Amino acid sequence: MIIVPEKEIAALMTRSAAFEAVEKVFASMASGSAYNFPVIREAIGHADALYGFKSGFDRAALNLGLKSGGYWPGNAAKGITNHQSTIFLFDADTGKCRAIVGGNLLTALRTAAAAAVSVAHLARQDAKVLGIIGAGHQASYQLRAVAEQRGFEKIVAWNRSPEKLDGLRDVAAELGLPFESVTLDELGAQSDVIVTITSSFDPILRAAQVRPGTHIACMGTDTKGKQEVDNALVGAANVFTDERAQSISIGECQHAIADRTIQEADITELGAVINGDHPGRGSDVEITLFDGTGVGLQDLAVASSVVDLAVEKGVALEVEF
Ligand code: NAD
Repeated sequence: MIIVPEKEIAALMTRSAAFEAVEKVFASMASGSAYNFPVIREAIGHADALYGFKSGFDRAALNLGLKSGGYWPGNAAKGITNHQSTIFLFDADTGKCRAIVGGNLLTALRTAAAAAVSVAHLARQDAKVLGIIGAGHQASYQLRAVAEQRGFEKIVAWNRSPEKLDGLRDVAAELGLPFESVTLDELGAQSDVIVTITSSFDPILRAAQVRPGTHIACMGTDTKGKQEVDNALVGAANVFTDERAQSISIGECQHAIADRTIQEADITELGAVINGDHPGRGSDVEITLFDGTGVGLQDLAVASSVVDLAVEKGVALEVEF
């Protein structure tokens, strides 16, 4: 069995490898050769922790396994990150444990890769301004991954506490792009692509603020009750997702489905666009919206990729199990 510790991941995993792994598994999901198992998430009644599993099987890549982990709010005080996750891969032929891989950085990279894949397939080719809503842990990963997908000339950003935007400003400077802290109205009026990456439970961005032709990647809503954009915006958009079942239950579309603004059949899995089974964006004035809910198969895909890289570079720990 191979172990790839968390501390090795940064030197191994690249954004392009994450993009490739996520794009491939979305395609497999849409073609029916990969599927996610039901998500388990429990408040365990200890340390205020939320703990659970995301799992699945990709028959094409033979990736079988799970990501286990969750949220321990007291960790920061102990000098460790509140979000903790570990990915376990199993041999699909024998069920033997194949690998244990640190999942913290991989979660950020695979989430950012999902937004990037959506931008690659759905945003207008001439997109110039990228808007980011949110400035937490995930935001800078989103900015780096999405900025690579088009010839962006400017970054605009909004956060509930604008003073926390300095991290994004630094990343934009590193990328050589001008950066502006803006109001939501200004963000919507300027942006060609918008990423929302907050833990909000109320709509932040509204249909009236978004201009025609925009692509929006809603990445923050991964739990029942969370919401980042209003139902009118979902209703006005051509809607795509990683997995329809998650989109309507724990994703951004849960609210628009509940109030019947859209129907389940209005939501297309992005993999269908990647496979060429759906045309994707219909016109330059259409708003496209990607509901990135985060699926277990994304975790398995990047973990498998990192195991290959670790073996190739000789940093994988091999143990008898
Ligand atoms: P974080 O706690 O580091 O940052 C949270 C961000 O949300 C901050 O910018 C904060 O200002 C903003 N925010 C919180 N409540 C808000 C509100 N009511 N209105 C406006 N802004 C608000 O979190 P993070 O690690 O950056 O993650 C952001 C979100 O992404 C979380 O909801 C997390 O669960 C989700 N997430 C999704 C995936 C996925 O695959 N889709 C993966 C990882 C994380």
